[in-house]
Amino acid sequence: MFMRSISKAIPALVSAAMFCSGLIDPAVAEEPKTAKQLFGSVKLPSKAEADPLGFYAKGCMSGAVALPTDGPTWQAMRLSRNRRWGNPAMISFLEQFSQDAARLGWGSGILVGDISQPRGGPMITGHASHQVGLDADIWFTPKPAQPLSVQQREDMPFTSMLDKSKFLTVDSNRWTSTHARLVMQAASYPQVQRVFVNPAIKKKLCQTWTGDRDLLGKVRPIYGHDEHFHVRLSCPPGATSCQKQAAVPKGDDCDSKGLAWWFTKEPWAPPPKPDPNKKPVKPRQVMLSDLPKACAAVLAAPARSEADATFGGSVISYSPQTALPTSTTEAEPAEDATSQEQVPLPTPRPSR
Ligand SMILES: [Zn+2]
Repeated sequence: MFMRSISKAIPALVSAAMFCSGLIDPAVAEEPKTAKQLFGSVKLPSKAEADPLGFYAKGCMSGAVALPTDGPTWQAMRLSRNRRWGNPAMISFLEQFSQDAARLGWGSGILVGDISQPRGGPMITGHASHQVGLDADIWFTPKPAQPLSVQQREDMPFTSMLDKSKFLTVDSNRWTSTHARLVMQAASYPQVQRVFVNPAIKKKLCQTWTGDRDLLGKVRPIYGHDEHFHVRLSCPPGATSCQKQAAVPKGDDCDSKGLAWWFTKEPWAPPPKPDPNKKPVKPRQVMLSDLPKACAAVLAAPARSEADATFGGSVISYSPQTALPTSTTEAEPAEDATSQEQVPLPTPRPSR
């Protein structure tokens, strides 16, 4: 009973603390902030043990560390987004993967897109997942030999691997065997649970990959993901509040109805027109109370400085002097779904 009333009191305490610290504008304080507004406004991680709390698409994280903006074999992109925070397992993974990528001939390493916000949680723009520090986006563009400036990292356009003049087809002028090796390298680490790519890329790999075919099962087709791929790590050992995702099917999963379905009209059909006689239903926003209870405490926890929370390597702090328009209208796929089974679609996919 006592515990229940404490946990009920935590969101109120968080709001009070945020109000006092100026994070909530008194003029709009009556309107409760959504979870994405709360987590999207926090600039630094919590000073605590690293812990993923909840599910990839419904959670938050304590004790995040930052990927250094620049490393020998990586650069973090779009620094203004402040999304290079992750579980230490993810940051270590990215450092290892970047070295392996350079070794297999992927330029001088990788360009890293979004990982998570400083305390994880839902985001105002972009992804459905990336909430617990165990998801990361890697560009299908290698790191150039000449390091990119902060400005170039904001401006560099994405390059799609698809031939847009055809239906769901990889562009054979852009896609190379090194792209394939890069994706399959990502899938090869035991801690990687899934790698999300566009269905056309999965199909291409199914047709061409001559290495370990079982690893192809980890490569999952999804909307978007034609100019970057998305690596998801399993819950780290001992992370008892991290909610696991179901295992991927055994084998390469190339002949499943699931993959074939993407090449039908169904996934691309426009959503049914709303009934003009019915009042439109406003989608319900995710609130802090919808997330694991511990996320309220994560929001309220004291901060750790950026320098202190950055794994070795250099950091270009994104400062107002270098401020750029905070445009978030780039081609970031919104359908960064959490699993095959949770893709938001107008009609259900075939069961399997
Ligand atoms: Zn992603």
